[in-house]
Amino acid sequence: MKIHTNNLTAADVWAATSGLPGVFAEVKTVGSRSHARGLEVTLEGTSSRLQNNNSGDRAATWDEWGIVMKNLFRTDPDAVWGSVKSPAYANEEDFDYKTGDRFEELTHLDQHKNHNWKFVGIPREQECQCGAVRRWI
Ligand SMILES: [Zn+2]
Repeated sequence: MKIHTNNLTAADVWAATSGLPGVFAEVKTVGSRSHARGLEVTLEGTSSRLQNNNSGDRAATWDEWGIVMKNLFRTDPDAVWGSVKSPAYANEEDFDYKTGDRFEELTHLDQHKNHNWKFVGIPREQECQCGAVRRWI
């Protein structure tokens, strides 16, 4: 996934994964038309699923991505994940809303590796029985 940022570097991404056993980031620094740079981030993690890039490496779980993203937002609250026009997360506040503040304190020990997302009657919101929430706009 791509981050548009004015102050994060590849070293920040690696640092953001350092507390997560089994999680490794591959980072490619690329251009960004809206920000100082873009970073293409691939995470290897502890999901039971494989990455969809034929690398044979395990994917990161949704929670592992969330912990890494939150760590990076602590350094750059204005980073944009995805495309600037149609961002997955437009900034830290948007991320906190769309993830129901799950990553304020979540550690890898508390993660649920396989969320089972279900609609519970609220438009543009899904919940897992573990309490995780995801929202979109
Ligand atoms: Zn869950």
